[in-house]
Amino acid sequence: MNTDAIIENTKQFVKNQLSSNCTGHDYQHALRVWAIARHIATIENANSFVIELAALLDDITDWKFNDGKLDASIQSVKTWLQQQAVDDTIIKQVIDILQNLSFKGAKVATPMPSLEGQIVQDADRLDAMGAVGIARTFAYGSQRGQPIHNPEIKPVQHESFAAYKAHRGTTINHFYEKLLLLKDRMNTTTAKQLANKKHQVMVDFLKQFDEECQAFMA
Ligand code: ADP
Repeated sequence: MNTDAIIENTKQFVKNQLSSNCTGHDYQHALRVWAIARHIATIENANSFVIELAALLDDITDWKFNDGKLDASIQSVKTWLQQQAVDDTIIKQVIDILQNLSFKGAKVATPMPSLEGQIVQDADRLDAMGAVGIARTFAYGSQRGQPIHNPEIKPVQHESFAAYKAHRGTTINHFYEKLLLLKDRMNTTTAKQLANKKHQVMVDFLKQFDEECQAFMA
């Protein structure tokens, strides 16, 4: 099977798996990450097939939707790629990327050794920013049962992945705990440039949000 056919089949596989996801980790998110990653890969001269597969499959292996466990979902991705007769070396590269992709807390480093992985991580993080990022955050915050905003609850800069995973705060705080930090954690020059505008959209949104919350309170 040629690589284009495998990518098309993988899109369908992901579409089926994420069809009922209402948390912003849906098929349209996977498609956007795939498109952003392809764009960065072209500019950065990277192996596009590994990047496209990992970008599409990222949310199938998300710890948040697998009881915090990666093993079963990693195995399902592996089985899928084997069914598509994808080379073992490529499967290993894709799995390595998926296992290292996630944000793990403000004070936790998330090193990504390969250029391919760095590009997928950048693309996934770019889709967490800007207007799309704002919309996704409120969708997921609601699904977690978090309040939108409570000035009595302060943002936390997490020192470990365990603390980050267990944390229940507010959705506005998530901007300070993760989203506003992403601009400075991009790997590639291309992503750093793309991140600036999306960062500013979030800063402007938070300023306006704050102003509306403060108005008439005194
Ligand atoms: P990663 O791919 O690094 O694991 P996540 O899947 O945790 O990233 O986050 C993707 C998006 O889900 C975030 O950018 C945000 O929009 C939303 N999200 C994650 N955690 C929270 C949270 N605690 N509160 C609100 N939104 C969240």
